[in-house]
Amino acid sequence: MNTVSPRPVVLCLSGHDPSGGAGLQADIEALMAQGCHAAPTVTALTVQNSIDVSDFRVLDAQWVLAQADAVIGDLTIAGAKLGMLGSVEMVDTVVQILKRLGDAPIVCDPVLRAGGGGALGKDEVGYAMRERLLPIATVATPNLPEARILAELPEGTPDQCAEKLLPFCRHLLITGGHGEEDQVHNRLYSRDGSVATFTCDRLPGSYHGSGCTLASTLAGRLALGEDIRTAVENALGYTWRTLRDADRPGAGQYFPRRL
Ligand code: PLP
Repeated sequence: MNTVSPRPVVLCLSGHDPSGGAGLQADIEALMAQGCHAAPTVTALTVQNSIDVSDFRVLDAQWVLAQADAVIGDLTIAGAKLGMLGSVEMVDTVVQILKRLGDAPIVCDPVLRAGGGGALGKDEVGYAMRERLLPIATVATPNLPEARILAELPEGTPDQCAEKLLPFCRHLLITGGHGEEDQVHNRLYSRDGSVATFTCDRLPGSYHGSGCTLASTLAGRLALGEDIRTAVENALGYTWRTLRDADRPGAGQYFPRRL
């Protein structure tokens, strides 16, 4: 009989990207690389490639609930990662699912745009996430453009966005990859007032799936039992290496090399 202890299972509630650079495939690969097992529940299907998104369809709530119920009723869930939800109704569906998870860590990546800029949900989806999901998440991982939408501060600095968003969530990791400077500053804000800044060199190129890679790695690290600061540091380090080693399989963005 096999007595190997099971890998921590991370429930991923995200969209499918048929190019494989982002979405659930990114979650699966990044979690495998941490020594975790991804249990992927599909929330939405997208039509896109490495250049842009042309369409997406959010699944019926019943299908998403049925997928998650089947998994939660069987596997021991050590953490959850939320990615593209696509509609306000799907936010509510995910809230229902998360109520069944006990105190497993939850990482919320408030996805509203693809790496190439195409919409993956209206701003109202972001506001619903802010009101209903951030309060039950362990940490939210917006990039600065997403944080500005959630905070309704179109020109806000990371500090200004954090001040507006921290009342909604325990920890907030605002990533700086969308800026221009030579260095990228990623800031972890916590409700106890602490701020930790993690700085790395900016890599040339534009990447598809970097946010998915970071959020799912962070969920895996938390599921493995790391504290939030260690988990963020390790997730940022791993994600940076996947971007350093990225390749370009098409005519558009680079894909992180996660394995
Ligand atoms: N989730 C899905 C299903 C996607 O298709 C994308 C981007 O295309 C994202 C999330 C976000 O991608 P990124 O990690 O590049 O922000």
